[in-house]
Order: sequence, then structure tokens, then C-alpha cells
Amino acid sequence: PAMLGMLGGGQLGRYFVIAAHELGYKVTVLDPDANSPAGRIADVHLCSAYDDAAALASMAETCAAITTEFENVPAATLDFLAQTRTVRPSASAVAIAQHRVLEKQFVRDAGLPVAPFAVINTAQDLPADDSGLYPAILKVARFGYDGKGQARVADAAAAAAAFEQFGMQTCVLENMLSLDAEVSVVLARDADGHIVTFPVVENSHLNGILDVSIAPARISDVLKAKAQALATQLAQKLAYEGVLAVEFFISEGKLLVNEMAPRPHNSGHYTIDACVTNQFEQQVRALTGLPLGDARQHSAAVMVNILGDIWQDGEPAWSKATAHTALKLHLYGKHEARPGRKMGHFTTLAADRDSAHNQALIARSELGIG
Ligand code: ATP
Ligand code: MG
Ligand code: MG
Repeated sequence: PAMLGMLGGGQLGRYFVIAAHELGYKVTVLDPDANSPAGRIADVHLCSAYDDAAALASMAETCAAITTEFENVPAATLDFLAQTRTVRPSASAVAIAQHRVLEKQFVRDAGLPVAPFAVINTAQDLPADDSGLYPAILKVARFGYDGKGQARVADAAAAAAAFEQFGMQTCVLENMLSLDAEVSVVLARDADGHIVTFPVVENSHLNGILDVSIAPARISDVLKAKAQALATQLAQKLAYEGVLAVEFFISEGKLLVNEMAPRPHNSGHYTIDACVTNQFEQQVRALTGLPLGDARQHSAAVMVNILGDIWQDGEPAWSKATAHTALKLHLYGKHEARPGRKMGHFTTLAADRDSAHNQALIARSELGIG
């Protein structure tokens, strides 16, 4: 069977390996961590840095096509592999998604709505108090995730202090919006430009980390169609190949693009249990040139993240989750639980969304989440 390459060994990579195996492929995972969730179940685990020349040469020699599960892969790595192999998504698309300034400018220049923002390269770039941007959120341009590298600032003085605290690295200062809701769209685009979008999912966060995702989202059909159309436009403008996730704010009834991820997304985990094709099989299909799968959702679903926070005295009592017969428990096989670390998730399935949501909230409270 053909060998596929995966850059990154986290839980997203692990689901890719599972999906690839089910479709008859082998997978080589590159991840510096010897115990990475994906590396441990891969056919070949290259345990090296993402810019290690020998590991990349080996990947280029053995893998028919290569993709990634996290956005911080060095662009040079993707460029090198793309010289001889199919790489999806492209280095240029990943370069945009991994840099908040390039990302926001790209989305705005593509004509899509974004929150008002300013690019901060030096302290002089910080807008004045009367700029209309405050209260605001200062976000580092690179390597931020789960709300890390972000500070909420009331005025220019607070923004200057936060910029200093971030070591004066390039940031985006974004107007703080009052949010009606947050939603996301995961889609896949193949090399011929066909696009298949998954249903719109509604997300809530706790301490900056995704907590609960509800599918379908509790928003109007008009807004759902609009979110899918905006995500589709973005994928087209990027000439994107692979799975793309787009996060949206809904503020005063309007959709704004928050950010994107060049890969499957935590908020798309409900597709594993609730859709004909899940987001990881879709990633395999887009990578290998198979027709994109049917994204139809067959059950209402609510996903709850399980963070390391609930490991107090050893392993949590999973029997509290497995006692629910329409709950799907997913643990990622991570060896070490830390507060805030994503250890797994569960999804409740039901004929209707409110029942799935009630079940999820009961199980969530039984497990001591939140
Ligand atoms: P992720 O883990 O999704 O990559 P991240 O660290 O990149 O997260 P963002 O998605 O930019 O961070 O922001 C995290 C959360 O903070 C958002 O989902 C939203 O709840 C809140 N937030 C971010 N920007 C704004 C804003 N401009 N106005 C209001 N809330 C915001
Ligand atoms: Mg992000
Ligand atoms: Mg986000």
C-alpha cells in the first residue's frame, strides 16, 4: 500500500493515521516526541525535528503524499517536500494561516468581514485611546493557540504594557466584540476545486480553550448558509487543497471571520461519530485524490473536550461517561495529564440537538468538567 506522510504527531494526526489505515494506506509520522499519540500508532515514526534534513529526505523518498496536522510546520519543510511530492495544503496556504497578520490581511483583502484590527510591529504602532479599537485584544502573530499569547486590554496604556510583556514581537490588536455566538466551518477542497463543507458547528470556550461544540449550530439557516459561503470563498481564494477550518464570530447578528486552521479542527470532532464521512477521512481523501466523501450529518451531536484538569488522583472515573449509552468516549492515549492539555473528548448523539446537549451537560458535570 502507498505510504502517506503526516507532519505532527498530536491527536489530530492520530485520527488521520486511523482514517488512512481504514482506507488501506500506511502512514509515516514526523514528530520530535517519542510518545506522540500519532507516532505511536504510525507504521513509521520519524522522531526528529520538523526541519531535520535526514528525516525530511526519508519522508520525501518513502511517502507518496504529505500533509500536516498543525500550522506551525516551517514553510521550508513543506517547500522541500513539495519539490518531489504532493503536499497538501501548500506551503503558501500554511504560511498565511500560521501568521495572524498575514491571515487577517488575506481575509480582509479577499473581501471577507473581520473584526477591526491594527498591526503592531513596534510600540509606535499602538493606536491611541480615541482610535475606536479599545477595549481590544492583543494577540501575538505567531504560535498562539488556546488563547495563549493573548491579552485583553482596556486602553493604549494597557496595550503598551501587554506588548512589552510579549517581548515586543509582532502582534495584532483587535477590537473586542460583543459576541452573540461563535461558529466554525470545516471543509475540504480537492485539487480540481470541488468543495464539500461540513455542517456549521457552534462553539463555546472556557479559559480560552474550546469546551463544547454543538452541531448543528443554534443559528438561523441564513447565517449557516452565509458561514459556509464565506468559508468556501476563503478556500477558493487560497486555492486551498485539503481540509480547512474557519472560525467565525457572530456579533450584532453579523458574521466575521476570526481565524483559520489549515487542517482538521477540534470543533470538527463531532464528525467522527455524527457524519457519513469524518473530517480525517476527508483529509485522507483530499490528500490522495479520492473523491471527497459525503459530509451529511446523521445524528445531532454535542462534543465536550476533556482536559487534563480532571486528573486529580489518577485516572478519572470513565464509567461515569460510558454509563451513557449514546455517548462516544475518545481518549487520545497521552501518557501525561496536565491542566489545560487536551486528553480526549466525548460526543453525545441524539435524534435532536437539545437532547444531545442535555446528555452532554449531564455527563460533563458528572465528570467534573468546568
Ligand atoms: P485556537 O485555540 O482556536 O487557535 P487562539 O488562541 O488562536 O485559539 P482566538 O481564536 O483568536 O485564539 O481567540 C480565542 C477566543 O477568544 C475566541 O474563540 C473568542 O472566544 C475570544 N476572542 C478572540 N478575539 C476576540 C474578539 N476580537 N472579540 C471577542 N472575543 C474574542
Ligand atoms: Mg488559533
Ligand atoms: Mg481560535
